[in-house]
Amino acid sequence: MANTVISLRGATKQFGGLVAVDNVSFDVREHEVLGLIGPNGSGKSTTLNLISGALPATDGEISLRGGTITGLPARAIARKGVSRTFQLVRLLPSMNVLENVMAGGVFGHRRRWGQSAERHAMQVLEMIGMADKAKSHVGQLTYIDTKRVELARALSGEPEVLLLDEWLAGLNPTELTEGIDLIHRLRDEGRTIILVEHVMDAIRSLCDNCVVMSSGKKIAEGSTDDVLSDPEVIRAYLGD
Ligand code: ADP
Ligand code: MG
Repeated sequence: MANTVISLRGATKQFGGLVAVDNVSFDVREHEVLGLIGPNGSGKSTTLNLISGALPATDGEISLRGGTITGLPARAIARKGVSRTFQLVRLLPSMNVLENVMAGGVFGHRRRWGQSAERHAMQVLEMIGMADKAKSHVGQLTYIDTKRVELARALSGEPEVLLLDEWLAGLNPTELTEGIDLIHRLRDEGRTIILVEHVMDAIRSLCDNCVVMSSGKKIAEGSTDDVLSDPEVIRAYLGD
């Protein structure tokens, strides 16, 4: 399909006897914000791990702009343009904010070095509202600020597609409003995003389409409004 950025065909991940991701297929198109939703344990994070190469797939094909990335190591996939945040924030603890963001640029899609890397990292920090904390040690940051830095790090590689794993989880109501605004800005910039999220307001306002997983399987996909009113989807959530 034209303008498909990420495509999964029969993606499968088994952990011993458990099929965490079971024959899942979907496409993500350019400039789309795709919600990947479903109850806890349904295989959302594992799906992101397969796309980013953090885990090898047991079976199936994953491609980026038509070229296979199945089986490539995570670093190679990042270089090709897939960036992510983790459900549990992972920053480099001995480095300051700016250095963490620059590290994302070094390992990302569009690699920069030296002053150019620093300039670009500062631009990303400005966009994200963290420029004043560029020299802060990451250990001194509030929780939302660590999340902002992680997002800035993912963005600094100028990814083709951004994978956000429950980036809004754990924020207080004020932070949540700010966080949703920030993702709206990314959306308005035309970024391609897979959003794993539980916050329904965020899914409704941000996602064009949704893929719903339950027990490793894709149980529904389509426009966000249609998917969220699908009785099978509602049942899957209530059964959680
Ligand atoms: P979600 O993100 O939708 O909550 P996950 O993808 O984290 O779900 O997990 C899907 C299933 O796979 C769960 O049953 C989980 O316990 C299992 N799982 C995830 N990662 C691993 C792993 N590294 N080893 C074994 N089982 C795992
Ligand atoms: Mg998860």
